[in-house]
Amino acid sequence: MTARKPINVRRPEVMARVRDKVQQYDSELVTSIRENGNELKLPGMEVRLASAFGFCDGVKRAIEIAYATCAMFAGKRIWLIGEIIHNPAVNADLDSMGLRHLPWNQNDPLYDSLNEEDVVIMPAFGVSRIMRSRLEEKGVQLVDSTCGNVIRVWQRVRNYAKMGITSIIHGKARHEESQATASQSCGEDGKGQFLIIFDEEDARLLADYILGRGNREEFMAHFGNSCSAGFDPDVHLAEIGMANQTTMLKSETAQIQSLLRAAVKERDGDDLRFHAYDTICGATQDRQNALFELLEQPLDAMFIIGGYNSSNTTHLAHIAARKLPTFFVKSADCLLSLRNIRSFDLKTKSEVEQALPAEAADMNRAWRIGLTAGASCPANVIEQVIRRLAELRGCYLPL
Ligand code: SF4
Repeated sequence: MTARKPINVRRPEVMARVRDKVQQYDSELVTSIRENGNELKLPGMEVRLASAFGFCDGVKRAIEIAYATCAMFAGKRIWLIGEIIHNPAVNADLDSMGLRHLPWNQNDPLYDSLNEEDVVIMPAFGVSRIMRSRLEEKGVQLVDSTCGNVIRVWQRVRNYAKMGITSIIHGKARHEESQATASQSCGEDGKGQFLIIFDEEDARLLADYILGRGNREEFMAHFGNSCSAGFDPDVHLAEIGMANQTTMLKSETAQIQSLLRAAVKERDGDDLRFHAYDTICGATQDRQNALFELLEQPLDAMFIIGGYNSSNTTHLAHIAARKLPTFFVKSADCLLSLRNIRSFDLKTKSEVEQALPAEAADMNRAWRIGLTAGASCPANVIEQVIRRLAELRGCYLPL
């Protein structure tokens, strides 16, 4: 069967029909705070927002595509691979419109049931080559919401593959974007190689192996599930090129790059067989930089808003938690009371109940609350959190 080209659904006439759906994620309150220097001063509470937060262009586009697809193909079965973005509120809205979900496993029997009448949306993080081929084989109508920043990373790793360079991907091996990028690292002929490393500890193990200090069995036991088929550390580390999942922590990526560059230089006497290009997207960098700036100000507590499975939001929570009491919440519903805030714990990776620290919750002084949100968090959810904070503090906030 000839593969059908992805269709453009963001046509003016379609977008006019879904304008209300898309605008539900806007917030007049958040817009006015942005216009007032990212500060909201109420009697008893000051809320300071980071200078960059919330929806990025890639996420906005993916959401528009999802709603436009529902409008354009009403009556058809419309599928989404996994989640359009990592935000529970947005995903619940789309589910309520009848969107169906395909798992991240092209061998799942649900894929057998697809046919030419079906419409399948590829999410903002993209899909692996093998999954795309499977969908093309089934003749479905594809709608592609892959972000341009992700596609730029794919171009980079495909070039590495052409040049016989092994891609070292700084990312989470199980994250959809890293899996898609890994599949692109295999190149057109499928012979390219990759290794996904998660953190500095992984980078140190890799650097040791490059320097001849590693044990092959131990190395493969550690990385066996995060490398290409046929990856041989004694062959495929001769020349390496770095790429990132676009939403990683910039400082960690920089540290990993310098560790691996130093290892190659020590082994070869120069770093000609080490390649690195920063592929962290601008939106992720801007949100991290804006949070560092915000944390320079005197604050009692920090709220980070976003989905718990959102990589860029998790990194924001890590940055803030190093500096002051931090509450990583997915919505205003998490703020049950001052003594009971359901917040995502970065160590246990589960929701825990925490109280606002005594100083932050002191009703005899003005609270100073910092706030930011990941690239997949809508402004209306940010507004709800601000309103709930004001309610807990007993501040008047006009509607
Ligand atoms: S976070 Fe970056 S890569 Fe991800 S959708 Fe937004 S702009 Fe694209």
